[in-house]
Amino acid sequence: MVCAIRLEDLLPQLAAVRVDRVEASGDLLRITARTRDDAAAVCPGCGTESDWVHSRYVRHVADEAVGGRAVVIDLSVRRLYCENSGSATSVALGAASLMARV
Ligand SMILES: [Zn+2]
Repeated sequence: MVCAIRLEDLLPQLAAVRVDRVEASGDLLRITARTRDDAAAVCPGCGTESDWVHSRYVRHVADEAVGGRAVVIDLSVRRLYCENSGSATSVALGAASLMARV
């Protein structure tokens, strides 16, 4: 029998993203993750859903320690255009509830 602890149980905020890699070294736990490509994001300006990807960038998120190790999350975040041409928010939507925490 395999004892499986899901990462999402330790760090519930990761349930909203896809974890690509987890590396433990010394007293550091480094998690490489990306926001889900299949989820549309809602524009905070006008409420229009958008999945028109402009680019990606990596955000470094420091989080609380797990098992005595400091946690660093390298999160690849989509930058999306709002598809509503009347919206004032042209580039914005990072998606993922994780972003609300940082
Ligand atoms: Zn908008």
